[in-house]
Amino acid sequence: MTSQTQSAIRFDNVSKSFGNVKAVDQANLEIRDGEFFSLLGPSGSGKTTCLRMIAGFEVPTSGHIYLYGQDVSNLPPYERDVNTVFQDYALFPHMSVGDNIAYGLMVKGVPKSERTKRVDEMLELVQLTGYADRKPSQLSGGQRQRVALARALINHPKVLLLDEPLGALDLKLRQQMQVELKAIQKRVGITFIFVTHDQEEALTMSDRIAVFNEGKIVQVGTPAEIYEHPATAFVAGFVGTSNLVSGEVAKRITGREIRFSIRPEKIHMGTMDTKIEADSYSADGVVRDVIYLGLYTRYLIELNGGGDLVVVEQNLKTTSMDVLKVKGQPVRLHWKKEHIREVGGS
Ligand code: ATP
Repeated sequence: MTSQTQSAIRFDNVSKSFGNVKAVDQANLEIRDGEFFSLLGPSGSGKTTCLRMIAGFEVPTSGHIYLYGQDVSNLPPYERDVNTVFQDYALFPHMSVGDNIAYGLMVKGVPKSERTKRVDEMLELVQLTGYADRKPSQLSGGQRQRVALARALINHPKVLLLDEPLGALDLKLRQQMQVELKAIQKRVGITFIFVTHDQEEALTMSDRIAVFNEGKIVQVGTPAEIYEHPATAFVAGFVGTSNLVSGEVAKRITGREIRFSIRPEKIHMGTMDTKIEADSYSADGVVRDVIYLGLYTRYLIELNGGGDLVVVEQNLKTTSMDVLKVKGQPVRLHWKKEHIREVGGS
């Protein structure tokens, strides 16, 4: 299979069933060498099962998985050049940070002087220089996760698998680690495959994303492609916030029987005398709810004739007092026609 050498990972019609449950359903996927690639989807959508099949912890029920062109579908985990970082770190509590990181080299019989040098390089990479002699219990959650990362990278695997590695961290630390993880990936140039159910995390970190729903891959693309051009109603709803408009309401607005999504930040809210340009759609309604969120405000507009839309506006000049006054007011919503996305069923 020499024609596969360009991609790091390739799924060829891969399915995995557990009894009656089809965890992964005919997945086709190509992950490029050096990509930061995320598997994104709600709980139970099949992301972890895909990751475990790449790692070799699960064998596909049907189909094939290629790692740099080699069919690894039936290879045991230790014969694959991949490593995994788990959410719970799985560090050895009785070993020092240095020994935890060196573990893979020790198993391989790498001499001590070489081990020490490479551990120091790894500590520098994850910004933990000087921590080699500590025990995992003497570290914060974020520091433990960095040790787990260093331990997984020290053998220079071809692919690093990360299973919700930031899931146990609080929001601030999580956001900081997102930036660091991405920087580390760029520095080492290794293909990272990252499982998350957090759409913001996937959008922040990834070169490309595969969106999962009920065992199926429903869209693969860059963060911008997925956000701006969701392929299905599910993707539009799951990635970011979106208004989904269908039936009578969609017909009233567009004159056509379509189903479309429109992002709340693309909608402008004007007074009832606002003139609508030919390149825009509009809908009149009443502000039913106002939620002031500091950076921006979210408005719920009940449309005249039925249906509602969520609108988000940045609080550039407004204060909480200004925005709350809008409640109960009639408004004319308008947005550029090019900003709607016609979407399929699921
Ligand atoms: P989460 O974000 O909750 O981890 P996920 O998207 O990673 O979800 P998977 O763990 O891949 O989802 O699970 C997909 C489906 O397969 C679920 O319905 C799950 O219950 C089922 N499943 C996964 N592993 C097993 C197993 N070992 N035995 C039986 N069913 C399983």
